[in-house]
Amino acid sequence: MVVIEEHKHPQHNIKSQKFDNPDKLYLPVSQHTGKPASVCMEKGAEVEEGQLIARQNGYISACIHAPKGSKVTDITPWYHPNFGRMESLVLKCTKESKSYKTRSNVGGLYPEELLDIIQKKGIVGMGGAAFPTHVKLKPPKNIDTLIINGCECEPYLSADYRLMKENLKEICKGVELICRIVKPKKVIFALEDNKSDVAKKINLFSSIKKFNIPGLETTVLKSTYPQGGEKQLIFSTTRRKISGDKLPLDVGCIVQNVATCFAVYEAVYLDKPLIERMVSFCGDALEEPKNIWVRIGTTLQELFEKKILSFAGEPKKIISGGPMMGVTLDCLNYPVLKGTGGFLFLNRDAKNYEEQPCIKCGRCVDVCPMNLMPLMYAKMVKHEEFGRLNEFYIKDCIECGCCAYICPSRIPLVHYVKTGKKYAVADK
Ligand code: SF4
Ligand code: SF4
Repeated sequence: MVVIEEHKHPQHNIKSQKFDNPDKLYLPVSQHTGKPASVCMEKGAEVEEGQLIARQNGYISACIHAPKGSKVTDITPWYHPNFGRMESLVLKCTKESKSYKTRSNVGGLYPEELLDIIQKKGIVGMGGAAFPTHVKLKPPKNIDTLIINGCECEPYLSADYRLMKENLKEICKGVELICRIVKPKKVIFALEDNKSDVAKKINLFSSIKKFNIPGLETTVLKSTYPQGGEKQLIFSTTRRKISGDKLPLDVGCIVQNVATCFAVYEAVYLDKPLIERMVSFCGDALEEPKNIWVRIGTTLQELFEKKILSFAGEPKKIISGGPMMGVTLDCLNYPVLKGTGGFLFLNRDAKNYEEQPCIKCGRCVDVCPMNLMPLMYAKMVKHEEFGRLNEFYIKDCIECGCCAYICPSRIPLVHYVKTGKKYAVADK
């Protein structure tokens, strides 16, 4: 683990804004882990806000809905941060935003009905991995602990913090619903110590039993990176270790991000699909870093054209996500996806440091949260000794980037890990 300068201000303390009237939306059919959704609208179709436009395709997949009342003007490959280009529905927005009424019978819904709503509303994990929530909430084993992840350990990003500051009650209602489905004995709300104001509020909720959340407690963790990583978080809060191919459910845990809990609340109480989310726009290349509610599919280009965002100077680097695990973008055509927590715009020259030989200082080993030996991955990949990578547990690597961050020889260790993982699998 590493202590990194947080860069959370000023956006951390500024109330979020809303951008509700995009002209165009670009919705890739893959915004989740698993099989891409299959398009169920033809070019030229008129769709209402919240209408299904791409169906879940297989068990691990998720539905996609129209974020605004609009016309489908095209179905074409479009920019996607993880895949380069991906089949996308292009919508021209034609209608005002819809208002949502609260469902009256939430208390009477059975767990299976709650799961069905979550599935039909296309809810996925909003902390980054975008794993379909209906699958995660139907574990094949008993769960005793639900961990709510409010850490947001990546530098700069503060969308989860603003969401907790502004919508904590709704998040807790989402947690209540999840508890009705997975029936944990205990719920741990995990936060970093830069969010202790939120922890105080949750402790108050817990003491007055404001919500029906069993065994609710908060854990305030040191603000280090990658404190919010799933395996790391489970170990920090429960001391349970997950190794190799094992999953959180193998140690009796499920982790849900706070934004996902909010989306579950909206799906069940408001009958609203996942069509909007809070996104952090941050970094020193922006005149005014801020958190904004945006419709899924809104492009960066449109946010700048409409002057919702403006540059303080020519950005040298644009990243989807945070600086540690984010993906570098080559233009502003990329849309906000369900799993997009933020965009980072940096003024600093992104120098291409030349990789130097390993000096065997061991710093990468010291900081690795998974107790791995990153230097060995670089060595083995360079020497094409792929068969040995599994001996060094390469699959345990969570690609957090701590090793590359600390390496004095500027060795791109995560790049070697990613390459190594591909060949280690092929070599099996
Ligand atoms: S931190 Fe870099 S230089 Fe040091 S042992 Fe690891 S790979 Fe080698
Ligand atoms: S080896 Fe993997 S888990 Fe360990 S520090 Fe590097 S990227 Fe993170």
